[in-house]
Amino acid sequence: MIRLLYYAMLAYLVYAVYKFLMGLGRRRQPSKPAPRLSGMMVKDEACDTYVPKEEAIREVIDGKEYFFCSKDCRRKFLNKVKNSG
Ligand SMILES: [Zn+2]
Repeated sequence: MIRLLYYAMLAYLVYAVYKFLMGLGRRRQPSKPAPRLSGMMVKDEACDTYVPKEEAIREVIDGKEYFFCSKDCRRKFLNKVKNSG
């Protein structure tokens, strides 16, 4: 009879530890740093693709704003502007 009580206590202890670990796991959930994007897309004038404004490279040429997906595209566009103008 005492043995049964012992097992019951052991079972409860395992249950308590399990619950405790579950609680820890829930608390340790990785909080992804959600990028706060405005959802605004801008056109890359060099390769004609649309990129999120937050990620785009901004360049002002002759008072006009241009956006690029990469520095390479910006360079390409600047060369094109220089050659045509
Ligand atoms: Zn591009």
